Amino acid sequence: MIRISDIIDKITDFNPDADLDLIDRAYVFSAMVHDGQVRLSGEPYLSHPLEVAGILADMKLDVVSVAAGLLHDVIEDTHATAEEIGDMFGNEVRHIVSGVTKLSTLPFSSAQAREAESIRKMLLAMADDIRVILIKLADRMHNMRTLQYHTSAAKQRKIAQETLDIYAPIASRLGIFWIKNELENIAFKYILPEAFAQIESLVAKGREERSRYVETVKTFIRQKMDENNLPCEVLGRYKNYYSIHQKMVQQNLEFEEVYDIIAFRIILDTIPQCYEALGLVHALWKPIAKKFKDYIGMPKANMYQSLHTTVIGPYGERMEIQIRTRDMDQVAKSGIAAHWSYKEGKTTDAKTAEAFAWVQNIVENQAHIKDPDEFLENVRIDLFPDDVYVFTPNGEIKSLPKGATPVDFAYAIHSEVGDQCVGAKVNGRMVPLKYQLQTGESVSIITQKGHQPSKDWLGFVKTIKARSKIRQWIKTQEKERSLTLGREMCEKALRKVRLNFNSLLKSPEMDEAVESFGYKSVDDLIIAIGYGKITPLQLVRKLVPKPDEAEDQQSLLNRLMGRVRKKKSGSGVVVKGVDDILVRFGKCCQPVPGDPIVGYITRGFGVTVHRAGCVNAIKTNPERSIEVEWDAATRESFPVKIKIRALDRMGLLADVAISISKSGANIVSVKSQTSENKEVSSFFTLEVTNTEQLSQVLTGLKKVKQVLEVYRVS
Ligand code: MN
Repeated sequence: MIRISDIIDKITDFNPDADLDLIDRAYVFSAMVHDGQVRLSGEPYLSHPLEVAGILADMKLDVVSVAAGLLHDVIEDTHATAEEIGDMFGNEVRHIVSGVTKLSTLPFSSAQAREAESIRKMLLAMADDIRVILIKLADRMHNMRTLQYHTSAAKQRKIAQETLDIYAPIASRLGIFWIKNELENIAFKYILPEAFAQIESLVAKGREERSRYVETVKTFIRQKMDENNLPCEVLGRYKNYYSIHQKMVQQNLEFEEVYDIIAFRIILDTIPQCYEALGLVHALWKPIAKKFKDYIGMPKANMYQSLHTTVIGPYGERMEIQIRTRDMDQVAKSGIAAHWSYKEGKTTDAKTAEAFAWVQNIVENQAHIKDPDEFLENVRIDLFPDDVYVFTPNGEIKSLPKGATPVDFAYAIHSEVGDQCVGAKVNGRMVPLKYQLQTGESVSIITQKGHQPSKDWLGFVKTIKARSKIRQWIKTQEKERSLTLGREMCEKALRKVRLNFNSLLKSPEMDEAVESFGYKSVDDLIIAIGYGKITPLQLVRKLVPKPDEAEDQQSLLNRLMGRVRKKKSGSGVVVKGVDDILVRFGKCCQPVPGDPIVGYITRGFGVTVHRAGCVNAIKTNPERSIEVEWDAATRESFPVKIKIRALDRMGLLADVAISISKSGANIVSVKSQTSENKEVSSFFTLEVTNTEQLSQVLTGLKKVKQVLEVYRVS
């Protein structure tokens, strides 16, 4: 069993000026409060905090971490309180020990193993001081080393699985590979004892032959480096059994086929030397294309740096070689823990600063901030900046983007919960629906049957699911509204020609009309009318092809020109980022394809399109403007008003109508007025497909005899 003097030796080794008094006092207190408690191994309980503190000293962490390690179980397992810890050892130690205790009480049931990734991230995000996680790892490390004392095999497997799912990946994420490897190896032994034993014996069997192989390769490398005056250290070591096992399973390989059971490593002094060494290795053995990775130029998120290459080795076998500097090697071993190593009294050396530029950045930019918590907070944010982790009332973890609200949470649970969500409680307290959730909070949603989503929610939800569900609901709403509106419009239009809409609904004429407009059902057609994609008059004409009523001027003109009006669905305008939204055109300015246009979101009526420069558009609140453009594929025709001033004569109207029809435009309505001096002012509403057609119409009309002036009215 490790003794406190061993720990003190380890600390003074790398930090001769350490505050050993703090360590001593923490030890004495821990011994006192744990007195009488016994570990499963039969040893006094104190052996556990001592071992944990020893591991933390091995990680070269600061005295605060080691002291907190000695005290890490006292709040949970003894009568000691957080206040006492604070009074005796200061707020930093108290903060860390409380953090470790808080994490210990998280609900990690095996049913949640599939959410291991979330739990892992949450652990990291929740500990506002990374040292909390480092102590948690050291704690788990010692518990794994003593796992044999658990009498239940099921319990052993459960703890081992949790280690594999959560703790080893955390160690890896933080770049502390020696802990990751040891945790994985022990866990592997308990979870798959047979596979572990098999690999163990296979490694042992070929050991002699393989160590000759390792020596050969190392000699080749060393010679080559010597020839080029590159001082280096060459290592060849076995990968951990668990990674060998994973490789066999994932790539379906036999043990003999796993080529990189031994990984070679070349350690040099400087970065340029690393690249030079890489060139020499590639000169020695042929590299395998695409297997080269430059983690020096592009470090991994956990700050790992190295050059990785795979080559065809001296016996035609694939061989993995890592090349890095001594500093990088140190980082690869201790990862993020390197930053909490004792640094006082030494100036941070330039190389280390270079390797950890991003941490250095935080330090430099915040040189005035002496608060270590704030520094660590920044590092924590750097690790997982974009997610928050919250609990359901059942203790399930949900991962959401940062800034997510109770509405996002509700939709993450179920669409129905989202739709009917009226309120939310966070940690038992009512919050507004736009409240931004924080990691670790427990959220419950209050629903009300029949409640409906609100458009306003679109202003604050962060998840795609919530957004699309709310949009979907709005679309359905608009459809229903258009159906009602469309029905009213049809009833009214048919009443004018003395027909009853409802009795026509199931008639063959109606079916024909639906088909000719290209819709699947009567409802779809009515919705299209409600949306304004088709006018009720168009439907009336389908249903009543030859009205026996006296023809009005408009139908007279239509007949005169023999035009068949055909319209496809689609508004003719594309609204950026929105599908199938209700689009209306400003009656004030009557935009036509080719005109510059702007769109405005109107309350409850989708988007209204105006000509750019229309007074009504300018008056509208700019916040409600939305980008729109003409749909290039549209064949729709659009109403436009023109004014013709002419001297009255016989046949003038017919000539004007013929001129318009030559350009293919359609006349919707005409209003004429003759003044005393025989001058006629006519207002025509035409339907044109674009501005080009409109100008053809205008040019044509100017050539009609006695016409004085023609222009578009806006
Ligand atoms: Mn413990």
